[in-house]
Amino acid sequence: MTAMNEFNLDKMSTELVGGLAQYKIGDPGQEIALNPLIGRPVKLLFKKQINCTHCGTTVKKAYAGGYCYPCSIKLAECDMCILKPELCHFSKGTCREPSWGESNCMIPHYIYLANSSGLKVGITRATQIPTRWIDQGAVAGLPIMKVSTRYQSGVFEKMFAEEIADKTDWRKMLKGQIEEIDLLDKREELFQLFGDDLDSMEGDFGAGQVEILEHENVTLIDYPVLTYPEKVTSLSFDKSESVGGILQGIKGQYMIFDTGVINIRSHTGYRIELVSE
Ligand SMILES: [Zn+2]
Repeated sequence: MTAMNEFNLDKMSTELVGGLAQYKIGDPGQEIALNPLIGRPVKLLFKKQINCTHCGTTVKKAYAGGYCYPCSIKLAECDMCILKPELCHFSKGTCREPSWGESNCMIPHYIYLANSSGLKVGITRATQIPTRWIDQGAVAGLPIMKVSTRYQSGVFEKMFAEEIADKTDWRKMLKGQIEEIDLLDKREELFQLFGDDLDSMEGDFGAGQVEILEHENVTLIDYPVLTYPEKVTSLSFDKSESVGGILQGIKGQYMIFDTGVINIRSHTGYRIELVSE
């Protein structure tokens, strides 16, 4: 039997409770709540084993963010169109796994504005609000459009990205001094700026495919962080088998220690033991 504090890393699961991000880590059903560990010594020990997050096979090196090589070239979730939704090729009949595409991409998506390291635009499925924003370390999020497919959301995101960032500067996000942005104002600005394009694209996609959201409210997100780092030092199991120190907090998918920060998501599939006192 394996102890519950040894598991293959996957992204931390999150929940927004009373405006504060709550984090858990570990195997489903055996997850360890991380918020109560903040301020205490915590160590993550790499067991020198990496497992494919899909099929579980042991690999020397993970591909596509946590997969074995065969899975990385076979699964739809590892295709380039997941990073660049405007490249979705489902309609051409070439989706790697049409049934996966059917239930993950050919469903309603939201285009949102968020403040992570500054203003950004992004897309997500309805079920991933506000998870997606927490994963990015955003302090505020606002859905501005609802569309019928992942592809459509990608087209609009790309258009808005001409004007605003679609990436987060994670070092800046982790320093914690994020300037307030009025996302409602930004929404109005964007709708004015792209008004004509929005109308013509709405026409292209057809009736009922695109909904402009003018009355959504901003979701504010606080993070459980005692102290933000002045200088961001990046830690990795590829450099050290033991990562840890006093857990200063968690933001985005990063655990912040007094010794540096570690991106949990980029170590998907790494088998670790979590030790806390
Ligand atoms: Zn695999």
